[in-house]
Amino acid sequence: MTTLKAEYGVATAVLWHVVPDADGATLCHRLLSSIAEVRPITDADGEDIEVGQLCPRCRTALKRAPRGTDGQSQDLA
Ligand SMILES: [Zn+2]
Repeated sequence: MTTLKAEYGVATAVLWHVVPDADGATLCHRLLSSIAEVRPITDADGEDIEVGQLCPRCRTALKRAPRGTDGQSQDLA
């Protein structure tokens, strides 16, 4: 299940990354702590997370994420 995972310590803000697998790497290939705060991917489209708080590389990768076009595709729903 795709979730968002928090990376702390970037300036004073939290940066949210998109994580296709609960214990996997982010879409931008960062490996975050397994105990990092998580929240549903649907929050990325909500008002709780500002655009600047969402990792731009993850956001780009999410937009062009393949759906069943190769072996690495994930169900984003
Ligand atoms: Zn990221």
